[in-house]
Amino acid sequence: LGIYHSVYQLGENHIIPTRLDLDTATFVLSQFPHPDVADSRVALIDSATNQRVTYAQLRQSIRALAAGLYHALGVRKGDAVFLLSPNSVLYPTICLAIFSLGAVLSPANPVNTESEIVKQVRDSGAKLVISAPEELHKFGKLQVPILLTCRDQSNNNDNNSVSVEELIDCCDPLECPETQLSQSDMAAVLYSSGTTGTSKGVILTHANFISIMTLLKWSVDVSHSQNDVFLCFIPMFHIYGLAFFGLGLFCSGITTVLMQRYDFQAMLDAVKTHKVNNIAAVPPVILGLVKHGKAAGDLSSLKRVGSGAAPLSKEVSDRFKERFPWVELRQGYGLTETCGAATFFASNEEAKGHAGSCGRLVPSFSAKVVDFETGTALPPYKEGELWLKSPTIMKGYLGNEEATTATFDRDGWLKTGDLCYFDEDGFVYIVDRIKELIKHNGYQVAPAELEAILLSHRDIVDAAVIPLEDEEAGQLPMAYVVRVAGSQLTQDQVIQFVAGQVAPYKKVRRVGFISAIPRSAAGKILRKDLISLSLQKVISKL
Ligand code: AMP
Repeated sequence: LGIYHSVYQLGENHIIPTRLDLDTATFVLSQFPHPDVADSRVALIDSATNQRVTYAQLRQSIRALAAGLYHALGVRKGDAVFLLSPNSVLYPTICLAIFSLGAVLSPANPVNTESEIVKQVRDSGAKLVISAPEELHKFGKLQVPILLTCRDQSNNNDNNSVSVEELIDCCDPLECPETQLSQSDMAAVLYSSGTTGTSKGVILTHANFISIMTLLKWSVDVSHSQNDVFLCFIPMFHIYGLAFFGLGLFCSGITTVLMQRYDFQAMLDAVKTHKVNNIAAVPPVILGLVKHGKAAGDLSSLKRVGSGAAPLSKEVSDRFKERFPWVELRQGYGLTETCGAATFFASNEEAKGHAGSCGRLVPSFSAKVVDFETGTALPPYKEGELWLKSPTIMKGYLGNEEATTATFDRDGWLKTGDLCYFDEDGFVYIVDRIKELIKHNGYQVAPAELEAILLSHRDIVDAAVIPLEDEEAGQLPMAYVVRVAGSQLTQDQVIQFVAGQVAPYKKVRRVGFISAIPRSAAGKILRKDLISLSLQKVISKL
């Protein structure tokens, strides 16, 4: 009672495999197009260079790189490999080679600062770093072997280690070792702050990835998008990009046009040049298309645009449909902890009738909407915290039993920290975020991390960071700061102090000075009070 199940049924072509010794790489390679067509079917196109990689080439390079990592660099089952690179046609090869050895992938955002990177490398226990040449300088403090993604053309580094490209060229795919793996083995550690605190390693198993890929393949099939061309600018270090473009679409034989990173004009050019019909996006990209739609010119090839990672307002969604009436706009919802999508729209008809919704539960998912006060499961239209169960849900947080225990209830439900309701047809509406997490352009910003930095300033006695709603970026981090008596610390100085220590998307963008941070009797920051205060200030300025 009070449990919602997915209304969709997986057919016999999309059964989640239960073979215990199956790993992510073996599964993905088994789904590649038949060898008769793999030589001509293009898996990836680099939008900047027009380099094309066929499915046959992709298979060869995955196996050659796995052979190289194993024989030349000694990578073994269970070893964590840290990956720091923007999107590239090599990215999926690197991920799949790591998976095939039973090693553990730990990707990170290349714009992160040196100290953020060092922290993650240490936390994940990485035995090897794979880095884009331009990011090499961030590993100076670490005693970990480094493999470059490609040859360093800059002459700025005296690192003469081999590169992924060279290993692929010189290693024999036939020497790729056979590793005994289990679906329950750890495949990747991605970082998320979860419902509270700073970044934690989300343990995703091969079973999690194999399940999400089976579900993705099903969603491509029900949407009839098998012959579509997809555009990827979503970063593959995030679960959205990794599960969808780094792994999932290969199981449907799709062609993906790859951009290193998001750029509005380059996106428009790529759509035109490659007749792209599918884009996976985040709300700021949708807003960009709405605002600069005139300049967009010919986007007639587009059939479908997805939006995820942060809320898409009904207003932006309506304006998008007015400007691009031939394009289906479908919102989805998911978390790193669910290994990607948890809700989605299976058809345009469903999406049309349910603006503002994130769709229905993906097959194999169950959900509860739980009342905070009473802990009871709520019926349709009642708002409460969304709890989820599915085979895609993480094992737990790496080395953090306390956070893992706090995130799962005793029956194994994952507490998402999101406030939502279901309608009577099973469509989900995300209403608010109850957890501390701030999302800036779809990227995670953990208030606890910024608060720790603020507290290290000698003129700051106490601090709290909250989200400020913003049309362009979704949310901006705002800091409330208590200064030491007599301090003349300015807003600008606070902003600069934090900016010097964090990746650009985590910067504090507003500062308010306050005499005391409101806290509960247990010392917990009362963020809602500060959010109301910031709203009052905005309203009083209107
Ligand atoms: P991440 O682990 O970075 O993918 O962040 C997951 C969080 O992003 C969720 O718990 C939500 O708070 C938020 N999120 C993702 N998709 C949506 C969406 N469509 N609408 C509202 N919030 C979303």
